Amino acid sequence: MSKKSSGAAKRYRESFFAKNKLNYALTIITTIGSSILSVVLASFLKGLMDLAGGGNMEQLKRFFILTIALLVGYGVDFLILRTVKYNFMKKAVEGYRNKAFADITARSIGSFGKDNSSNYISALTNDVTSIENNYLLVQFDLLEQILTAVLALGLMIYYSWSMTLVVIVLCILPIAVSMVFGSKVAKQEQEISDRNAGFMAMVKDLLSGFGVVKSFQAQTEATALYGEKNHELEQIKCKRRKTTQLIQIISMMAGFLVQMGVFIFGAYLAIEGQITAGVVVAFVQMMNYILSPINQLPVLLANRKAAIGLMEKLEACCEESNEKERQETVDNVAEGIRFEHVSFSYEEEKTVLKDVSVNFEAGKSYAIVGGSGSGKSTMLNLIMGSYPEYEGSVTMGDKELKKVNTDSIFDLVSVIQQNVFIFDDTIRRNICMFKEFPDELVESAAVRAGLKNLIRENGWDYDCGEGGSHLSGGEKQRIAIARSLLRKSQVLLADEATSALDAETADSVTNAILDIEGLTRLVVTHKLEEKTLTRFDGIVVMRNGRVEEIGTFEELMEKKEYFYSLYQVSRE
Ligand code: ADP
Ligand code: MG
Repeated sequence: MSKKSSGAAKRYRESFFAKNKLNYALTIITTIGSSILSVVLASFLKGLMDLAGGGNMEQLKRFFILTIALLVGYGVDFLILRTVKYNFMKKAVEGYRNKAFADITARSIGSFGKDNSSNYISALTNDVTSIENNYLLVQFDLLEQILTAVLALGLMIYYSWSMTLVVIVLCILPIAVSMVFGSKVAKQEQEISDRNAGFMAMVKDLLSGFGVVKSFQAQTEATALYGEKNHELEQIKCKRRKTTQLIQIISMMAGFLVQMGVFIFGAYLAIEGQITAGVVVAFVQMMNYILSPINQLPVLLANRKAAIGLMEKLEACCEESNEKERQETVDNVAEGIRFEHVSFSYEEEKTVLKDVSVNFEAGKSYAIVGGSGSGKSTMLNLIMGSYPEYEGSVTMGDKELKKVNTDSIFDLVSVIQQNVFIFDDTIRRNICMFKEFPDELVESAAVRAGLKNLIRENGWDYDCGEGGSHLSGGEKQRIAIARSLLRKSQVLLADEATSALDAETADSVTNAILDIEGLTRLVVTHKLEEKTLTRFDGIVVMRNGRVEEIGTFEELMEKKEYFYSLYQVSRE
């Protein structure tokens, strides 16, 4: 995903607060309450200690009541805090996840393809957990720790400025430890998160390629690869744990030194009669309030920054695809689809389409043939509006496609690919693709796509299986055709849709496409069979990114040029 970032992920931060402001405000208030109560506790300790040094029963009774009040205060504050904080978290994380998914699905097909799918999975799973813990939850910890430390410092100055000065000097040691190790932990944390993402991507590849791995008998290699990544991940986690442990020990010792220092200097001042024993006790308690943010702040802040980075990354990559400049809509293909002097490259160095000019008339059928890598699929990609950065012009119904919103293109155009997306549900729901249609329409689409037999034998509720595992390749293709008929698409693009099928099934699927009247059909195929090719209104022959020849089967055969030689080779 690109690194370009904007507005420090402002849109995502806003998604946390949608209909969640009250929870947020109450969480802040109760967190502040909890900070204040912690400092009050320290002043109580001082009072009690001083009482022990010379007070009366009446004062002790009052203290007892105050202590109960403090305890009740703590309890009430904690109960409210617990409710509002976790309600806030629930809504914030849910809102963020919805927003992230909406942004990802808003990407155009072209820009979606630029990122690896495991990046998206990571953005919606691991990254959310990190944002949850390191950004959302931590903000309240940060507030509580910093506020408590500031209040404690204020109370310290009030009790004794000279003791406070000692505390500040003694804190230099733990601050140094924290600064040295804090960034190291954060870096290791980041590395763990990266390794985790890499590990996930690999597991996904290995499991989704299970069949291939098995049939190539590559289990040993796959296991070794897995083991290696697994080892790397645990290695860095072990390193992080060791660093954390080291910091804990050093901080503990530094903390102990500081506390002893406070005790000793406090005792000296108490003996001198400058402060009471109660002040010493209060100082020792408040030292904890100051040491804890010193130890934790660098790590918390670094992790928080990393979590913001995750949001920025997602925001930047989703913004790239926003279609602000593509405001026009296309609503018909009456004028056909026209390529004029189109040149295009996916990557700068390599031009994939070179000065392509071709006119696909509305309602006719065209075969697009040519060697592998000659640019056939790329032509279809441009018609889908996936890559608007081409030179020249591609028009559909007189609209320039780079200015047209892709949603309006998808209303007109359907694509059938070699891999048909089938989900584990009934045939009917697979044809309807999550939407509702009247029964007659679904039936007529299924019949025109040649699914009559399958449905007669198994019924509409036949379960297609995960990824369509209960269907044959031809049946999946026919479901794809039925889908586009049902959507009343005006243009049907088929990209090597039948290449995985046996010759007979391929023919019958192609014929089903050719039989659909009135639809503009572009069929990319490498099967050069006379009996199907003669049925097309035109054949576009591609070679190295250029249109080499255009004509009907008879015309091209008579010319005896490139297509003729391709045809001859395919028959050998
Ligand atoms: P065909 O469908 O005729 O086999 P394509 O149109 O898919 O060929 O590809 C034409 C050329 O563009 C090939 O050299 C291919 O490597 C390159 N190409 C295709 N898709 C991409 C992509 N998404 N990014 C970069 N290069 C691509
Ligand atoms: Mg292709």
